[in-house]
Amino acid sequence: MSYFKLIMEKLKGRLSNVTCPVCHETSNQLTTKISQNLVLICPHCRALFVIQKE
Ligand SMILES: [Zn+2]
Repeated sequence: MSYFKLIMEKLKGRLSNVTCPVCHETSNQLTTKISQNLVLICPHCRALFVIQKE
C-alpha cells in the first residue's frame, strides 16, 4: 500500500461530509469538531453552525 493511499484513508476517517443549514451546500469538516459540538464554518457562505448529533 502506498503512502498516498494511507494518508487518504486517514483523512477520510477524520473528515465528515456535513450540510450547511444556511446555504445547504455540503463540505468536509473534522469529525472531532463535530463530535465535540464545536462551531463549524461553511466554506461556501461563511456561516457558523453546529451539527447536533442525534
Ligand atoms: Zn453555507
